[in-house]
Amino acid sequence: MSSVRTRIAPSPTGSPHVGTAYIALFNYCFAKSQGGQFILRIEDTDQARSQKIYEDNILDALRWTGLTWDEGPDVGGDCGPYRQSERTALYREHAEILLQKDRAYKCFCTPERLASLRAEQAKTGGRLGYDGHCARLSPAEAAAKQAAGEPFTVRLRVPETGVCKIDDPLRDRVSFDWETVDHQVLLKSDGFPTYHLANVVDDHLMKITHVIRGEEWLPSLPKHLLLYEAFGWDPPQTVHLPLLRNQDRSKLSKRKNPTSILYYKELGVLPEALLNFLGLMAYSPPDGEERFALGEMVADFDIQRVSLGGPIFDLDKLTWLNQQHLAALSEDEICRRLIDWRFNEAYLRRLIPMIKPRLHRLGDLIELCGFMFVSEVAVDAEVLAPKNKTVEDARDFLQKAVWELESTAPFSSEGIEAAVHKTAAIHGWSVREATHALRAAVSGKTVAPPMYQTMAILGSDVTRNRLMQAVQAAGPLGKKKLAKLQKEYMAAAAAYQPPMS
Ligand code: GLU
Repeated sequence: MSSVRTRIAPSPTGSPHVGTAYIALFNYCFAKSQGGQFILRIEDTDQARSQKIYEDNILDALRWTGLTWDEGPDVGGDCGPYRQSERTALYREHAEILLQKDRAYKCFCTPERLASLRAEQAKTGGRLGYDGHCARLSPAEAAAKQAAGEPFTVRLRVPETGVCKIDDPLRDRVSFDWETVDHQVLLKSDGFPTYHLANVVDDHLMKITHVIRGEEWLPSLPKHLLLYEAFGWDPPQTVHLPLLRNQDRSKLSKRKNPTSILYYKELGVLPEALLNFLGLMAYSPPDGEERFALGEMVADFDIQRVSLGGPIFDLDKLTWLNQQHLAALSEDEICRRLIDWRFNEAYLRRLIPMIKPRLHRLGDLIELCGFMFVSEVAVDAEVLAPKNKTVEDARDFLQKAVWELESTAPFSSEGIEAAVHKTAAIHGWSVREATHALRAAVSGKTVAPPMYQTMAILGSDVTRNRLMQAVQAAGPLGKKKLAKLQKEYMAAAAAYQPPMS
């Protein structure tokens, strides 16, 4: 067995992102093409934003794509635990080693000092970042502050001069001046590590040989290399893949494109088509054939064939590719996929309680619930507005609902109901007005099965996407208006008091 080991290291802070599947795919293909192993590690050091439900969704979504991992929190392995929140003692030990070697130092600066430093730097247009104030404390001064009970963070000591040269097989030499590299906080004052420390310690202890990740991490590499050197470890080979982009070439964002893997699953995109599509983002097979299966990508995978051009996440291309994959399936197989997708007892059982009161003939199912099966619903902007409200007002309400529903987890009918009540109150609408606009956006109709249940079954990603489509249909919000609306929404949401039940 080869010693090549790669990993995907998602943070469970939101819906499972297509970018995670994209990076996972390349790590998987590289490892498997070398007869190596692919590991999944959960990076949940951000205590405030990480949630178990997001972790479960990421694992389910990656499994659905057809990728498998040799080690991970669900399958175990020799280098566990594979969840960073279960490894905090290790990070503290390693921070201690760095302090002992004087490769890190304790920083006692208060949040107030750091805030005024930032404000000052912003005002004078100076370089942003820590000014090294505590790097200059003598050991005795630091010990005295600690003895006095002053809270501290642990920061990386960064050379003041010289350059850090980076060797990435896909790029010409990249270098960073050390003086532009921030004295990264490694351990926060609560004793929890930041991404940088945990990531380096784990990649080393988990024997990762190749780190293939998104290019947004390239600027972090000097700090990581410094950490490897400080510990006396050999760094893994790093490769930074190009970012996925929206049509306008900006970084792929959920404001402009559905980014959740689950959205594509709900729409009936085949997992192999999604992987194929993500593969094409930065890879072209030697035979030039655009449709390929995962096994084929592994068989001829060559990291040098990865191209760095900014790949556009083009939904028409995905649909085309999906059609190509469907066309290649046997009729039996298509039948099986349809059954797995929607035409199964479990799914129908979720619909029946909602439609039973209005079911005169079995065929009425399609009339009542067709919108639960289609990829997109056509929305007439006029229909969005409840009585005595304008289309613009409905659009603003729906946009606020998108924001509110983004943080509704789990996406249950109770959770959705609370979110809708809250958005209605914030917007100064009645719940009846709110459900009118939501129903029209989600189903394209004014009469439909119970709203909250339908939204729960459609799932967060499809629901929010339909609301976003309705916002577009009502005349898109310009950048300025959107920013103003969001500010208004955030202030009102923070002040909102739910009614006593
Ligand atoms: N937890 C990081 C992320 O969410 C991992 C980055 C890396 O691969 O080093 O993207």
